[in-house]
Amino acid sequence: MTSGTDHKGDLRGRTALVTGGASGIGRACVLALAAAGAEVHVADLAGPAAEQVAAEVGGIAHVVDLADPAAVNTLPAEVDVLVNNAGLQHVAPLHEFPPDRFELIQRVMVTAPFLLVRRCLPHMYAGGWGRIVNISSVHGLRASAFKAAYVTAKHALEGLSKVAAVEGAPHGVTSNCVSPGYVRTPLVQAQIEAQSLAHGVAETEVVDQVLLDRSPIKRLVEADEVAAIVRWLCGPHAANVTGISIPVDGGWTAN
Ligand code: NAD
Repeated sequence: MTSGTDHKGDLRGRTALVTGGASGIGRACVLALAAAGAEVHVADLAGPAAEQVAAEVGGIAHVVDLADPAAVNTLPAEVDVLVNNAGLQHVAPLHEFPPDRFELIQRVMVTAPFLLVRRCLPHMYAGGWGRIVNISSVHGLRASAFKAAYVTAKHALEGLSKVAAVEGAPHGVTSNCVSPGYVRTPLVQAQIEAQSLAHGVAETEVVDQVLLDRSPIKRLVEADEVAAIVRWLCGPHAANVTGISIPVDGGWTAN
């Protein structure tokens, strides 16, 4: 496997768009794709952070709220690599789950990826080459309690990704999901702090006994480990890999 940290430059001349690229996994993807030679557009709600990440790689920042379908039309359509990564979480029992949070999560994590795939495919088809990478989750493959909106959205993203793989195949476009377990990012750090407070236990206990309870490998995934798989899917060795979901989960889904 070509590692995500090599600098072979096979994405030179390619343009990439990473949603949620200002933080965590998205930021790591921006760095990995830029290191491979791509010009990278960073789309995020968080303006200053998006601009900082874009500046680090000589890329272009777009400050957008992907919950707004019209915002998608302000993003570039002529991209060769699309990484649908922006996401958020809300934790509540199903019978108390706030409908507005459920709907927001579907808009950001399902409708926006759909609109972006729809928007970017004509350019990819015209060039006979394209890479769509959807950052799903182990929750695109399995359920956990209290994550109704997130689990629903990630399962939907897995479906969208497969349809894009089937339709894109004759045009040289692949579409895949990368499905991490718990990754050390601000999103997960917030969950660790909330659970530590709620249960009155140390943060290290939350990590070992709650988050990694089912994981045979007892350490959080790092964002650059996820980005390395994303980068590999965009590289020359992965041209025949499409329509799949790659868990990066320390064995969580095997257990
Ligand atoms: P993060 O909170 O560090 O980054 C998410 C980014 O998305 C932020 O920069 C945020 O501003 C942006 N974003 C959120 N809502 C947006 C909106 N409406 N419009 C534009 N941008 C928006 O989170 P992360 O952990 O890096 O998560 C990135 C992706 O990886 C998400 O799709 C998440 O579901 C997925 N994921 C994360 C983990 C994990 O453990 N961290 C595990 C599996 C999957």
